[in-house]
Amino acid sequence: MQLNDLFLRDFRNYEDLALSFDPGVNLIVGDNAQGKTNLLEAISYLGSGKSFRAFKTGEMVRFGADHADIRGNVYSQEREQELRFVLFAGSRPRQLWRNGSKKKTTGEISGVLQTVLFCPEDLMVLKTGASARRRLGDSALCQLRPNYEAALAEYGRVLEQKSRILKDRYENPALLEILPEYNARLCQVGALLISYRARFYDGLEKAAKTYHDHFSGGAEEFSLTYRTVSTVTDPFAPVSELQQRLLEHLDAHYRAELESGQCLTGPHKDDFSVSLSGIDLKAYGSQGQTRTAAISLKLAQRELMGRESGETPVLLLDDVLSELDPGRQDFVLNQISQGQVFITCCESGRFTKLGKTIQIQAGKSI
Ligand code: ATP
Ligand code: MG
Repeated sequence: MQLNDLFLRDFRNYEDLALSFDPGVNLIVGDNAQGKTNLLEAISYLGSGKSFRAFKTGEMVRFGADHADIRGNVYSQEREQELRFVLFAGSRPRQLWRNGSKKKTTGEISGVLQTVLFCPEDLMVLKTGASARRRLGDSALCQLRPNYEAALAEYGRVLEQKSRILKDRYENPALLEILPEYNARLCQVGALLISYRARFYDGLEKAAKTYHDHFSGGAEEFSLTYRTVSTVTDPFAPVSELQQRLLEHLDAHYRAELESGQCLTGPHKDDFSVSLSGIDLKAYGSQGQTRTAAISLKLAQRELMGRESGETPVLLLDDVLSELDPGRQDFVLNQISQGQVFITCCESGRFTKLGKTIQIQAGKSI
């Protein structure tokens, strides 16, 4: 799949922009704060209806404007397609179209333009806290499995309600009577999450291992371990069994949850770890090892998505290449030889030989 043209009106710092892209490499060059990441955000939003940086949709509307328009021509599923979003500065819901016909949900545009974003924070994801790893895994899984996304949203809702019960129970002790109902629902949906994750991380490990072997010349053995609630000894077990295991764990922590007023156990605490030849990266990995493993994971994510849809997703590399030494840059560039890629950097340097270069200055292409 590829994005051929992009039109922006009042999106972030772009008042009016029209760009055509190369089917291969597109280098977006410009000084700091000129709009490079904004451009990647627009591309990613066009495909998913989600922003990787905005908390509120209105943030993406140019200061002072009342709505933003993002439109793009895409070649995917063996035909030309057009996607369009209109975002409003106020509370009015956004609107979307696929090939000129209005759609209600992003589910109706899924698969037209899939993107995988890779940014400098991802390079250190194996060293930082669990929540960044969960986000990485969750966002990849949501793109792969719409049903997972629905389950994750439901889990989040129930978890929030349960948190409120735990906090408000002093003022309103009767709330405790409905707690078991919420726990049961959490275990039901949580079991589903674990089941999806177990399969996803298994596939991710296999694909990442192959990249890592190429990269390190097979010198280190890459392995990824998915970690969930301790009573779940086999995350591949049937969902009903997972549900049972989750309930057991919740029951064992009932007092602790009441005392702390927090939801202490469940798949919202899940994590994964990567080790090289049996040595845990989080504790012992060098910076180079950590980066190499992270690159392998990202390329693996793109491969899994591509396998699913039969088309290579568009890769968005935000400032990543300039963070890497020439050996790693070349590895990444060689591994992305198929498919379309957008690379942002401040200095085009050694990359100008590739594809098309687009210079961005203060929200304009120059
Ligand atoms: P860097 O190299 O530092 O990463 P960049 O080129 O990626 O820079 P962006 O993050 O794309 O920069 O753009 C940042 C600019 O966009 C900032 O100057 C910011 O003020 C501006 N900006 C962000 N949102 C809006 C908005 N809604 N309206 C107008 N300008 C905005
Ligand atoms: Mg940027």
